[in-house]
Amino acid sequence: MPEPGNNAYYDVDVDVIVVGAGPIGLTTACALGHHGVQFRLFEEKPKPKPYSRANNVWARPQELLDSIGVRAALAEKSYLIEKQTVLLDGRPLDQVPLDQVRSPFPKVFYSGQDVIETTLSEQVAKTGGAVERGKKVVDIQPDEHGVSVTVVPLNGDGEPDGQAEHLRCRYLVGADGDKGGVRKAVGLDFEMQERFEGRANRSIDAKLTWRRPTDSDQLWFFVYHNGFAGVMPVWGGYHRIFFLEDDTGMPDRDPTLEEMQQHAREVTGDETLTLSDPVWFSHNRFQYGVAPHYAAGRVFLAGDAGHHTLPIGGQGMNAGMTDGIGLAWRLAMALEGSAGDAVLGSYDGERHGQHADLSDNQATGMRRLVYRNRAEDLALDVAGKVVPDLGSKLFGSNDLQQLSVGYRKSLLSEDHLVGLRELLRSDAPHAGDRAPDAKVTAADGKTLGLFTYIYNPDGRSWGWSLLAFDGRQAEVRADLLAAVEAAAPWDFIRPRLVLAAPADPDIGHGELTVLSDFDEGAHAAYGLDGLPALILVRPDGHIAFRGPANRPELLKAYCEKVFAALGRPA
Ligand SMILES: Cc1cc2nc3c(=O)[nH]c(=O)nc-3n(C[C@H](O)[C@H](O)[C@H](O)COP(=O)(O)OP(=O)(O)OC[C@H]3O[C@@H](n4cnc5c(N)ncnc54)[C@H](O)[C@@H]3O)c2cc1C
Repeated sequence: MPEPGNNAYYDVDVDVIVVGAGPIGLTTACALGHHGVQFRLFEEKPKPKPYSRANNVWARPQELLDSIGVRAALAEKSYLIEKQTVLLDGRPLDQVPLDQVRSPFPKVFYSGQDVIETTLSEQVAKTGGAVERGKKVVDIQPDEHGVSVTVVPLNGDGEPDGQAEHLRCRYLVGADGDKGGVRKAVGLDFEMQERFEGRANRSIDAKLTWRRPTDSDQLWFFVYHNGFAGVMPVWGGYHRIFFLEDDTGMPDRDPTLEEMQQHAREVTGDETLTLSDPVWFSHNRFQYGVAPHYAAGRVFLAGDAGHHTLPIGGQGMNAGMTDGIGLAWRLAMALEGSAGDAVLGSYDGERHGQHADLSDNQATGMRRLVYRNRAEDLALDVAGKVVPDLGSKLFGSNDLQQLSVGYRKSLLSEDHLVGLRELLRSDAPHAGDRAPDAKVTAADGKTLGLFTYIYNPDGRSWGWSLLAFDGRQAEVRADLLAAVEAAAPWDFIRPRLVLAAPADPDIGHGELTVLSDFDEGAHAAYGLDGLPALILVRPDGHIAFRGPANRPELLKAYCEKVFAALGRPA
């Protein structure tokens, strides 16, 4: 291995090494490939596990997966879910629509983690990358300039077999799951939090017949004294049935088909319920924990490597996918020499913060769910009738679809539109929040969502977007053009004028994207009715900067602060 002082120490074999090809390592690799980053992805297991675990993908992760071009492939092997029925002691509460969210992808994917991993592996190959299976990362040595990594090939029994490879990379992503060694190697290990005493989880994936529909278009949840059960589709015509409940008398082993069928009949009140062809059984108890940080120097954690999640609300894999995609564009920018320190530096605060919040919410939801008393059941019954609180009561969050995930305190978030008006419009998306979609009309008369202009950039896969809103004031056009000019040195910023006032046909001389927002739907979505403003959007669709349209110098100062100094060699 090269030593400091030796020139080879500063050379690298590959820009990024990803450890672990679970769903998060694979998503990270897809995103790196999408951005044209050179990487190697190592997985110690010879092939993906042949059963599910995580089987859902919520709306926000779907938006992000779409931004790296892999959502459509996942959709081909997913059931699209729109509704869930919740029953309390066998009595249906109001039906809860899942798809009443403002996203181009409101329907939840239900697939299988094995299917998702296979599909993502195919997508890695499509970007020219490879999943190197049967190779275990056994040592990592990070330093100021890169990371030295030792990889050992394994035989079919998981024993070392062959020559170790010594590699050097600029950055390393630990996507090696909750038992992985990367976080320990860089001092980010964590202790598990409380166990939920007296409670356990049992699951089965099997074929199901019962008196309720078996169409794979909805979820069923059963709330009963000291317990909570779910029935949900798994790709291939299977269903997952799980019970989170009192463990009194429960054997400390996987359940049998007969035990699960009998218990499912009792809980669902359906004596005809029949399970067959089981593909997976599991039993576990509840522990959780989060790493103290998601980054240490040039090493980053993604997914379960930094967070042992609770099995509530189907969030773990979804949050991990957001990590991988959020990290990949930052690495791409850094490797191209366009990122200032804040770009990579913000990953830890944003994603660690998100996982810490998720962990707290899940623990709260879990306590409420598995230690309910009768009074709380009554409250749940009431909550079922006023739907907005039901998710919080059941899962610790009313935003299972992860659309409200935002980073207002991020190093990348800067907001100059604060004041009385903002207090009045506190629901308007601020810097750090997800930039909403809204219909706009292009010069050719086609009406498309703003997402088209934010996520599917022309040329640079990690481009930023400057949305310059006129606030229906034609006289601010010169300000908007001055802002475009101010951002011009950073050629990865793509300007889009969003105009509510009638447009001068010559504006931008055909070189600018001019979007008509004649009925002000986009202005309203951004809380900008009558307010000319500049909104800079990051590659992952979060608002980075908000400022008044007549202060282009604020935008310029933001760019100078966040991006690499202009003219710096890559
Ligand atoms: C029963 C169950 C149900 C779940 N249901 C849901 C759900 O409905 N929704 C949801 O979002 N999440 C769910 N989850 C959570 C979800 O499964 C995890 O969040 C997800 O697997 C995390 O993916 P990962 O890639 O981070 O880690 P993993 O899936 O653990 O993958 C890590 C990979 O790294 C490899 N590896 C480790 N060390 C090395 C090394 N040194 N060298 C090379 N390779 C290495 C491992 O072999 C493994 O393949 C569930 C989990 C369980 C257990």
